Amino acid sequence: MPAPPTDSFHRKIDYLRLSITDRCNLRCVYCMPEDGVAKFDHSEILSYEEVVRLARISISMGISKVRITGGEPLVRKDALSLCESIARMPGLRSLTLTTNGVLLSEHAEGLFRAGVKRVNISLDTLKPEKFLQISRRDLFGRVWEGIMAAWRAGFSPVKLNTVIMAGVNDDEIEDLAGLTFRYPFHVRFIEFMPFQESQYESRFIAAGEILERLRRMGPLEEASGGGDSFGPALHYAFKGAMGKIGIISPVSDHFCPSCNRLRLTADGKLRTCLFSVEETDLRTLLRGAASDQDIAAAMRAAINKKPEKHHLSNPAFRKCISRPMFSIGG
Ligand code: SAM
Ligand code: SF4
Repeated sequence: MPAPPTDSFHRKIDYLRLSITDRCNLRCVYCMPEDGVAKFDHSEILSYEEVVRLARISISMGISKVRITGGEPLVRKDALSLCESIARMPGLRSLTLTTNGVLLSEHAEGLFRAGVKRVNISLDTLKPEKFLQISRRDLFGRVWEGIMAAWRAGFSPVKLNTVIMAGVNDDEIEDLAGLTFRYPFHVRFIEFMPFQESQYESRFIAAGEILERLRRMGPLEEASGGGDSFGPALHYAFKGAMGKIGIISPVSDHFCPSCNRLRLTADGKLRTCLFSVEETDLRTLLRGAASDQDIAAAMRAAINKKPEKHHLSNPAFRKCISRPMFSIGG
């Protein structure tokens, strides 16, 4: 397989996050506005064939890890067959999926059989009423069933993503971490990023503070683990626990120097940074007469312009974030 492309800061770019829809069956406060959103028209969303073609071109360029995300990827009708088609592409090392878990109990086995290596499931609370408050939908039970179905289907490890917000679910840091004593899951605490929620400043809790709280529960040992959705997670484990703890600090810690990611939005725009201001329109190329080589060249040109780092600590930069999370594909 070809070596992965590198950007102008010598970073190897080998990871593509593919958003396959901007639709979602939840309305998480940190991601979507309450009254829904102006969704892309169906004609704006890349078709199954277009997504598969872009995945194939990316893999032929040396991208070896693909994650399917959204919106909620499992609300898209052909999500399973898309996974199947991508999973069997020669040169791909891992296909993974991020989901809110609502539809996972129906799909876990199929995804596992289709060749999806791992699933990350978002879980911000263990309390049904808090789940309703955060996601604006009364579906905690369905998500928990989905988590159990993923475990039963053989996904290993099952990774749980938890966005911690002060005054909302920070009282559950210990209970969520405690899951690692009962299940072999990876519970990953993610810093709240400034996409949605008007009270961002007062809700933000830095990863260091989350870690402090965890250390008060008992000795935490450093553990091994791979790169992750928002950047490399720091991994830990409590003595005697079956699972691991991950700490992901996209805001307070600049792991931009080791960022290996590209993102493709459901409407076919390539973003080289989660917080990019610029996008490359691959959909127009796909729907025009562009060859695979032309598309690969456009992707390489975008990679060359991948920004060195984000400037989230600057409130003025935060105001320029051009798309909400559900529309980028977190
Ligand atoms: N719907 C799926 C889900 O919720 O897992 C996949 C898409 S969602 C945009 C991907 C991830 O982004 C989820 O783990 C979610 O918690 C995270 N996310 C969304 N908005 C966020 C924010 N403002 N700060 C931190 N993480 C966020
Ligand atoms: Fe939907 Fe995921 Fe955004 Fe929640 S975080 S609203 S589940 S896309």
